[in-house]
Parts: sequence; C-alpha cells; structure tokens
Amino acid sequence: MAFSFFNTLGRQIQKFEPLRPGKVGFYGCGPTVYNYAHIGNLRAYVTHDILVRSLRRAGYDVTHVMNITDVGHLSGDNDEGDDKMVKSAEERGKSVLEVADFYTGAFFNDTGRMNILRPTVVCRATGHVADMIALIGRIEANGFTYSAGGNLYFDISKFPSYGELALLRLDEQKAGARAGVDENKRNAGDFVLWFTRSKFENQALVWDSPWGRGYPGWHIECSAMSIKYLGEQFDIHSGGIDHIPIHHTNEIAQSEAATGRRPWVKYWLHNEFLVLDRGKMSKSAGGFLTLQSLVDSGYDPLDYRYFLLGGHYRSQLQFSFDALDGAKNARKSLCDRVRVLAGKAGGRAAPENAGPRPPEGAAKYLEAFDSALEDDLSTPRALAELWGMLRDNSLAPEAALEAAFDMDRVLGLGLEDAAKQEKPAEDEALVREIEGLVAERAEAKKAKNFTRADSIRANLKERGIILEDRPGGTVWRRS
Ligand code: AMP
Ligand code: ZN
Repeated sequence: MAFSFFNTLGRQIQKFEPLRPGKVGFYGCGPTVYNYAHIGNLRAYVTHDILVRSLRRAGYDVTHVMNITDVGHLSGDNDEGDDKMVKSAEERGKSVLEVADFYTGAFFNDTGRMNILRPTVVCRATGHVADMIALIGRIEANGFTYSAGGNLYFDISKFPSYGELALLRLDEQKAGARAGVDENKRNAGDFVLWFTRSKFENQALVWDSPWGRGYPGWHIECSAMSIKYLGEQFDIHSGGIDHIPIHHTNEIAQSEAATGRRPWVKYWLHNEFLVLDRGKMSKSAGGFLTLQSLVDSGYDPLDYRYFLLGGHYRSQLQFSFDALDGAKNARKSLCDRVRVLAGKAGGRAAPENAGPRPPEGAAKYLEAFDSALEDDLSTPRALAELWGMLRDNSLAPEAALEAAFDMDRVLGLGLEDAAKQEKPAEDEALVREIEGLVAERAEAKKAKNFTRADSIRANLKERGIILEDRPGGTVWRRS
C-alpha cells in the first residue's frame, strides 16, 4: 500500500516513505493523568490507532511509543498556571503518584474498551527524568539555553527555524515578554527546560540536576522519550491540533538543538478537535464528557468509536447525542448484517445464495477500502466501502465476511465478536422475509407483473428497506 499523509510540516499531502524500509517509528503524545480522558482526547487516540492499524495491515513493522505525563504539565502549555498533577492531588487529598496511577489505569480502561491497541512502548515521564536531564545537557552544551530566576530556559532566538511547524513568525515570537507572562523570559516564545525554585515551592516531585533541585518543563519529556525509544530521527509524530503552536513547536526546537539533526520527525499528523454543541471541550474549564458517562447513558464504547470513524481526522467533528444515536443504530445494523452473513456462511444459507461466487467480488471493495486509507486515512470512505460490500448480495457470504474481518483489522469495530454472537430470532426472520420478497419481485418482473413488483418495492421502502437493481441482481439495504 502507498500511503499519503497531510504533513503539518509544510502543510501538504505527501507520499509516505519511511526512513528505514518496512519499519515505522511513531510517537503519539499521551495523556496528562490528572483526570479522566474526555471524549475529545479519545478522538486523538483513535486517530493514532487508525494510523498504527493501517500501517500494520499494510505490512509495516510499527513501533508505537506513547508517553504518560505525570509531572511538569502546567494548565497553560506556555509555562503558565498551576501544575495539573499537583493541583489534582491536592484537591483529592492524594499523592501525585497515586493520582497518576489511578488515572493511568482509567485511561487504559477507556482505550481498551474502545479497541484502541496498546502502544508498543508506554513511558512515564517520572521514570525518564535522567533521560531528560541528559538531553537538556546536550541542548545547553550546544548553546541554546540561559538561566534566569532559578529556571533553565530554551532561547528560541538561537534556533532560526523556530516555529516552522506552526508557521509562526520568529520576529513575533522574539518580541519581549507579554503581560502576565514569566518576566524571566528573554523572548515571549522561550520556554522552561528545567524549573527549580521559581514556581512551585510545594512541588511534590523534585530531582537533583546540574541546574539545581527541581523538575522538568513539560515539553522535554516527549523529546527525551521519543529519542530514547525511536532514535534521533523517526517517521511520524502525532497529537491534536492544539499542540502545533507550542508543544510540538518546542519539541522540535529542543530535539534538533540537542542532536543537530534535521528534520527530527519526517511527518507530523494532527487531528482536529471534537467540539460539543456548546463549544470547546476541555477539562480545565470543567464539565466534560467521559467515555463512562456515555456508557452510563446506554452507549457501547464502540458506538463512540464508530461515530469518530464517520469523520475524517482532519475535520472538526461536532458531538451530539443525536449523532451518537445515529452511530449506535448504524453499528447495530452492521453487527446484525455480519451475524446474518456468519449464519449463512455457517451452512445455513438459503438455497438461492448457495453456489460458488467470484472471489474478486470482494476484492474490488478491499481495493477501494485500501485506497481510502492510503488517502490520508479516510475512515469515512473506508466505512462506506465496508457497507457497500455488506449490502452487495451478489457476494458469497464467506467472501464478504472474510473481507469484512480484514477491514476490521483497521476499523476495530469488533466484527469477529459480533459474528459469534447469537442473532436475535426476529432479525433472522426479517432477513429471510426480505430476501423472499426480493426473489418474488424478480419473478414478478420476469412475468411482466410490474404492479406486483412495484408494490413489493414500495412496501419494503415503507419499512425502511431500499432495493437497488444492479447488473448482478437486486441488493437491499436499510435506509
Ligand atoms: P492532554 O491530555 O490534554 O495532553 O490531551 C491529550 C490529547 O488529546 C492531545 O493529543 C490533545 O491534542 C488532544 N485533544 C484535546 N482536546 C481535544 C478535543 N476536544 N478533540 C480532539 N483532540 C483533543
Ligand atoms: Zn508531546
């Protein structure tokens, strides 16, 4: 398969060519574990998952690294505000590590329920402080830092391509400190690599370092851990669009300043936001939806996964319960259809569906499915191909089922499990009735009894079943 991705670095669709043939190094920014993930965050992880699954299905050996932020992330990405972990621990009367453990567990519980594959490497920031200190040492040795007010800062004016990813203008970034921003900064865009006494006297977790006892800034963990597990240059880095102007911009500056190698990362993929009817979803602003709250309202986590796949990762997606209901119904129809096919493939096929069918019938849908994914991971088109194939009654059930399971290696909708479940009796009967009526209509047309043929079609339409006459025969689908 030949993938093309929209690379934020350069803002264009580019053919994907990994640095090492057959292998892909991928780093996706992980959660800050001070609270549950909200459903917007889960969009980012489903995007990572589709990327990884697509590449693996295409034969690449993918090493997927994800960090767990349990230190250093302030409420403002630009070194402003409170420390998210410390604040959460204080509010809950727990230690920072207790909070981190609890929400890390909750995170993997959520991602597991959504069929998001566990990354190859999951790395906690607090377990990698020595790597961060070593990397900061390299940045300092190369002349990109200064100390002020007890902190060690990255000096963006020393890094000429600063802001390239976000199309920032360096002269604007260099402008003096903005109101309310840390006055130690020489340039507004400078950021902390290592905090000592400047900010939080009550910081629970501190480490010794060449710059004093303190703790790392947020951005350095991603540079240090990705380089540790993927090397000084790797293929793909991902996260939500909010990370473009600060977090990822700073990650690039630090990494390239430390290693002297460019580009640090070849392809940058960013997912657009999930927004609520009433606006942006954020934990800091309070009031956010978790996966569990959807489950409590009667949805399966895979309904939400299905909902997300219905939008392209680079388009903003509006969440509403009406839209989630639509996804829930569609996923139910999908599972029902798979169960019907499994029933037929298991030897219970009606006689008119028996007999050999050309296997290439499914191949054309698989090809279209592949090209949808190759085209910057178009999950809406990939889903449409799955549906088109399942609705095509000219395919042998075995072939359709086999192809559906193959597609589900990427979609992750649990279709093999669905196929194993007992099918509700009334659905089986309904499908038999529809297929009987379709056959009767074909007979009526052959006998030129068009009144009967039309009335069968109209009757089914009223019941939400649409008939489509194709060269190979009539196929039906739910409207
Ligand atoms: P955080 O735990 O805040 O670092 O966010 C985890 C991931 O979720 C990051 O990749 C963010 O860019 C992403 N993210 C945050 N809010 C949203 C949202 N509303 N929609 C999609 N992605 C988001
Ligand atoms: Zn990161």
